[in-house]
Amino acid sequence: MPDQSDRPSRTLHPETLAIRTQTARGAEREHSTPLFLTSSFVFDDAEQARALFTEEIAGNIYSRYSNPNTDEFVRKMSLLEGAEDGIAFASGMAAVFGSMAAFLRSGDHVVASRALFGSTHQLFTKLFPRWGITSSYVDADASADVWASAVLPNTKMLFVETPSNPGLALIDLEMLGTLAADQKLMLVVDNCFTTPILQQPIKWGAHLVVHSATKFIDGQGRVLGGVVVGSAELVSELRFFIRHTGPAMSPFNAWVLSKSLETLSVRMDRHCDNALAVATHFEGHAALDFVRYPFLESHPDHALARKQMSAGGGIVVLEVKGGLERARRFLDAVELLSHTPNLGDVRSIVTHPTSTTHSKLSEAERVQVGIVPGLIRVSVGLEHRDDIIADIEQALERSA
Ligand SMILES: *Cc1c(COP(=O)(O)O)cnc(C)c1O
Repeated sequence: MPDQSDRPSRTLHPETLAIRTQTARGAEREHSTPLFLTSSFVFDDAEQARALFTEEIAGNIYSRYSNPNTDEFVRKMSLLEGAEDGIAFASGMAAVFGSMAAFLRSGDHVVASRALFGSTHQLFTKLFPRWGITSSYVDADASADVWASAVLPNTKMLFVETPSNPGLALIDLEMLGTLAADQKLMLVVDNCFTTPILQQPIKWGAHLVVHSATKFIDGQGRVLGGVVVGSAELVSELRFFIRHTGPAMSPFNAWVLSKSLETLSVRMDRHCDNALAVATHFEGHAALDFVRYPFLESHPDHALARKQMSAGGGIVVLEVKGGLERARRFLDAVELLSHTPNLGDVRSIVTHPTSTTHSKLSEAERVQVGIVPGLIRVSVGLEHRDDIIADIEQALERSA
């Protein structure tokens, strides 16, 4: 459990909390948090060892349970999301899995948004059914009544991503928060696309917020990580599951990710400014069928985006005219932008969901979530926006 004594006052702003929430200074009087590469921690005496193991006192025992670096990272994430506590995981998928597996049992049912990260979809369709856990999908744009009618007597949880990957469809978090409260369901939100800087699901009634820290939180494409935050009560149940199944984040990754959080707010501002510039520039372009970005007025959920997000995020979706073949030529024609499946990096990235991240879905499943063959996901990075725009322009021209 994190030591609360040096926790800054809650009246500080998120930018300050992300920088000034720090592990207590050690004997070396270091300014920046050191890396605690240690698997275990030494007991002062037999009595302390006993009390730590019975959890009568809080403190480090073994790095599968806790470590100063993972604690610092988790404390920052909890403060940014407005949560009481949290747990760090080795990857985003370990966090997604843990957020459900720790609370569900055989016979339970989950209602989820249809447009989900590829591996989350595999969890619902291939792995959970092995353990008797079933699920139903609802379209992101479905009405409150449709969401409510998907709830069965054995439904325990609602699980959603908003905006969705890669279609950028939005789900009304306030509506889901009300449904969860009325029906006594757990609402779990994968907040990876927005980070707590742009959207805080707990404010709207979410019980747990899940992140792949690999994306915008790292922000430089270096390490994998995941985190789940929520109420102290739920996190303590999750902690039991994590302690005994072992998907702990490495202290090294936690150290990197905690440093990354110091600049998250500044980076998100620039990601959003650049993405809006790219979306605005290419909207109506002759080589494209559409451009989708939550803060463009043409986005079907623009009003909702303005309500629950403070900016549009770093992802822009383009559909090139000419379908699959044109999309492939476009990917081979980009020069500056990287062609890789990651997102949220300082380097701008293009990804073709049909042939890569969502290739395991059937054609019909892809169409249901808006993934057409000409769709290109652009993760807009922090290069100068004119250079990003110029590279996309030349690639569109050369792929004609
Ligand atoms: C990448 C991603 C994940 C999985 O995270 P990893 O760190 O790659 O395991 C989960 N959800 C969303 C929305 C993602 O983009």
